[in-house]
Formats: sequence, C-alpha cells, structure tokens
Amino acid sequence: TDGRGIFKVYSPEMGSKIRRYHYLLEELRLAIASQNFHLSFQPIVHVEDCAIDYFEALIRWHHPIEGLIPPAEFIPIAEESNLILELGDWILLESCRQMSAWHNAGMKKVKISVNVSGIQLKHRPIAKWVEQTLEKTGLPASSLMLEITESTLITASEEIIEQLEACRRAGVTIAIDDFGTGFSSLSTLADLPIDVIKIDKLFITQASQNQKYHKILNSISELGNQLGLKIVAEGVEQAEQFELVKSMGIRCVQGYLVSRPETSHNVGTKVLKGNVN
Ligand code: C2E
Ligand code: CA
Ligand code: CA
Ligand code: CA
Repeated sequence: TDGRGIFKVYSPEMGSKIRRYHYLLEELRLAIASQNFHLSFQPIVHVEDCAIDYFEALIRWHHPIEGLIPPAEFIPIAEESNLILELGDWILLESCRQMSAWHNAGMKKVKISVNVSGIQLKHRPIAKWVEQTLEKTGLPASSLMLEITESTLITASEEIIEQLEACRRAGVTIAIDDFGTGFSSLSTLADLPIDVIKIDKLFITQASQNQKYHKILNSISELGNQLGLKIVAEGVEQAEQFELVKSMGIRCVQGYLVSRPETSHNVGTKVLKGNVN
C-alpha cells in the first residue's frame, strides 16, 4: 500500500520485474531450443563413512550475457509457461544417460536423483515416461530416484499418486523433497508413496540455535526411522550440524560441508579415480 491504505496495482519495480520475467521467458525458449543447459551433481553421503549413496542432478543455465541464472529464478518461469515439460524431459534423459555411463565406468552402487516438478506430474503419465527413459539409457530402475516436493505431494491427485506407486513397483525410489516446509502433518508420511525424506535446509540451519526446530527435527527423524524411511538432511554446511543430525539418527547428509554440486567432468575425475573425500 502507499501508506494511506490505498493498494497500488502498479509500481516501477513491478514494471521491471515483469520485463525481466518476459525477457527470461523468451531467453528460456531459445535456450531450450539450443539445449543451452547442463547438469551439476551433488553427492548425498552416509554419515558413518561419507560413502556416496547417490547424486542429485541440479540444472544449470549459463546465459551468454547474464551468466549463471539460478534455478530458483528460472524454474518457476519454466513451470508457469509449461516449458518445464520439455526441459524436464531433457533433465531426466540426461541424468539417466550420465548415470548409466558412470555405471559402465564402475560406479555401480550409486543412484541418480532427479527433481520432478508438479507440472510434469499433472501433464504426463509419469510411470511410462520414466520406464521409456530408463529403457533408452539402459539404467536400471533401482538406480533412479525422483524428488518431489512436499507441497506437490500433499496436493497430488489420486491419479498422480497411482503413477508414483507404479514407479515404485518398477523399482524407482521416491523422495519427498523440502520436507517440513509444506505444512503437512507428520502422520501424512505414513500414507504417501515415498521411500526417502529430505529434510529442508531450514531445519538444519535452525536446529542448532532454536530448541523448537531442534525438537521438530528430532521427531521427524524418529518417526521416519520408525516408518522405515531413509532420512536425508539437506544443506549441511558446518561440522556441528553434521554431528547434530548424526546424533539424531539421520543416516545421510547433503551439503557444502561434504561437497558442492560439481560438473560431470569433476565427478568423473574425483569419484571414478577413487579420491573421494
Ligand atoms: P532443491 O531441490 O532443494 O536442491 C537443493 C539446493 O540446495 C540446490 O540449489 C543445492 O545447490 C543447494 N545446496 C546444497 N547444499 C547446500 C548447502 O550446504 N548450503 C546451501 N546454502 N545450499 C545448498 P540449486 O541447484 O540452486 O537449486 C535450487 C532449487 O531449484 C532446487 O532446490 C530445486 O527446487 C530447483 N531445481 C534445481 N534443479 C532442478 C531440476 O533439474 N528440475 C527441477 N524441477 N527443479 C530443479
Ligand atoms: Ca531436490
Ligand atoms: Ca530440497
Ligand atoms: Ca530446497
């Protein structure tokens, strides 16, 4: 409001935001047509020995003028415009292709995890799409994980839940992403078709300073373990946070403390040549 209780529908900043939006939308179309993206890979490791459990594939867009544009800025635009459908096809195909190549090079037990947007779930029968991509790339279903955010899962239709069940029956792992931010109750965990809980970074950051977050983190961990779900702590940046989540019975961590997302080339040299930290 303008301070007098009058709601302004337009402001100069809004104008520049709208311009930026349309600019990025057009640039996104061009980038998709010319496949101007690449994937980076961040390891998720076991707390006991830091052995790699899986890699999360994270998209990167290097714009010729703007430089690196963060996914937090362009993924929402891709979702609103449905461009995420085409982009998402490329992300899954490229993720499976890369993991299949790493398998053939000896990295046998490691899985690849791919972020799937709610828009993709709404527009595609996901089970068939996943099956066809696995076939095309020769990756076993047991080596693929799909990450779906809590807010998408709790509002998903019955058809979508059935599709995810079909993926699980085929051997694909399903993770609930950004858990704790979607306002579902802990009891919904028991009803969702999931194998893995990824606890949002917010809880990891807050737990060491704030008793409430500490307690919530502890209950998520306890319940998750009782339900036989694998729990991953996201965004672990400090040794103190690592020790805290480990002491709570959380088995896997992801974060800058262990490794930043890396190019496929760097993953190849570090992991396949054996000098994993
Ligand atoms: P996300 O799925 O929660 O992915 C984790 C994000 O946290 C990544 O950011 C990762 O680089 C970052 N991260 C990992 N460890 C740390 C840490 O210790 N500290 C901090 N501060 N950050 C950490 P990124 O790559 O910028 O991606 C942001 C979001 O964009 C993702 O959040 C996801 O929602 C979306 N996104 C990224 N790649 C894809 C994709 O291929 N498809 C879809 N649909 N969404 C994607
Ligand atoms: Ca994710
Ligand atoms: Ca996440
Ligand atoms: Ca997140």
